[in-house]
Amino acid sequence: MYLKQIILTDFRNYQKQKLDFSPAVNVLIGKNAQGKTNLLEAIFVLAMAKSHRTSKDKELIRFKQEAARLEGTINRRLGDLKLELILSKKGKIAKVNHLERPKLSEYIGQLNVILFAPEDLALVKGAPQERRRFIDMEFSQIDPLYLHDLSQYKQVLRQRNKYLKALQLKQANDLVYLDILTEQLANLGGKVIAKRLIYLKRLETYAKDLHAQITQGKEQLTLRYKTNLKDLGTQTENDLATNLLAKFQQLRQKELSQGTSLAGPHRDDLSFYLNDNNVQTYGSQGQQRTTALSVKLAEIELMHEQTGEYPVLLLDDVLSELDGQRQTHLLKTIQDKVQTFLTTPGLNDIAQQLIKEPKIFHVNNGK
Ligand code: ATP
Ligand code: MG
Repeated sequence: MYLKQIILTDFRNYQKQKLDFSPAVNVLIGKNAQGKTNLLEAIFVLAMAKSHRTSKDKELIRFKQEAARLEGTINRRLGDLKLELILSKKGKIAKVNHLERPKLSEYIGQLNVILFAPEDLALVKGAPQERRRFIDMEFSQIDPLYLHDLSQYKQVLRQRNKYLKALQLKQANDLVYLDILTEQLANLGGKVIAKRLIYLKRLETYAKDLHAQITQGKEQLTLRYKTNLKDLGTQTENDLATNLLAKFQQLRQKELSQGTSLAGPHRDDLSFYLNDNNVQTYGSQGQQRTTALSVKLAEIELMHEQTGEYPVLLLDDVLSELDGQRQTHLLKTIQDKVQTFLTTPGLNDIAQQLIKEPKIFHVNNGK
């Protein structure tokens, strides 16, 4: 799939801007603070109905304005599709082909994007919540049901945490109600973990291959799901729910005294291993970056496998962060199959040699 056109109205520093894109590589060139990242962000928001940089939609609305509007035309194998998103202080309205979709899980996934920014090179070493965010963002796009289960899980988690807090403060005492919430949370948690395990296995297959290519077969990459549940092995959704419920029972006293939920997908994590050594602990900076790159490139293939279409790739200033060999690898992987948007202060020699007929946009003060 690719993004044919976007129209931005009062989004960040763009007042009104209509742009037609190339299905291949689009390069956004400009000095600092001109609106390069804002444009990538607009594409990301059009796809995900939320920003990768902020959870506050208000920040996306141009200063002193009431609402921001994004309109996009997507080309998919089955034909063109129109997406529209209006962000205002009152909330958001999402439309597909002019029809409002009150459930965002029916909007997200129409345009698939993968964003790669310098922070993502720290995916391996960064905090666990960044890896969970990564997992959730990617899997939500390829599976609307995953997003649905995850949202429900988060909702019940909030209720349960609130109730545990009330019990801790002796403002409540109904343990039967706690049991009901616990069972609901375990069931939803089982669903979320089961899907994560399936998609991670598939992601690993691609990442392993790509990593071997980049390192000329020297390093074997494996991905492991990190959780405080035992024996994940070949567990089904139901097994995992039972497993999680047992864990909650075991943690009951601790949860009551701390007033919060201590197990479940919201506390799980992901580990990366190279030839059986944990990259987080033992990897060099270069190995950590290559691992992050392999995993990111693997997502492109996973999305393709799952949806039958390649996603749109957004590269925010990453070329300058990669050495020549990795730049070459990245540019060769995307060549001819993935619509790409990349921001840069200027194209270097490698990029000029490898990118065939880029469409160049000069970004200057929101224009
Ligand atoms: P760099 O090369 O430094 O990354 P950039 O071109 O990617 O620069 P952006 O992050 O796209 O820069 O744009 C930053 C500019 O957008 C800043 O000048 C900022 O003041 C402006 N900006 C951010 N949010 C808003 C908003 N809601 N309304 C108006 N302008 C905004
Ligand atoms: Mg930027």
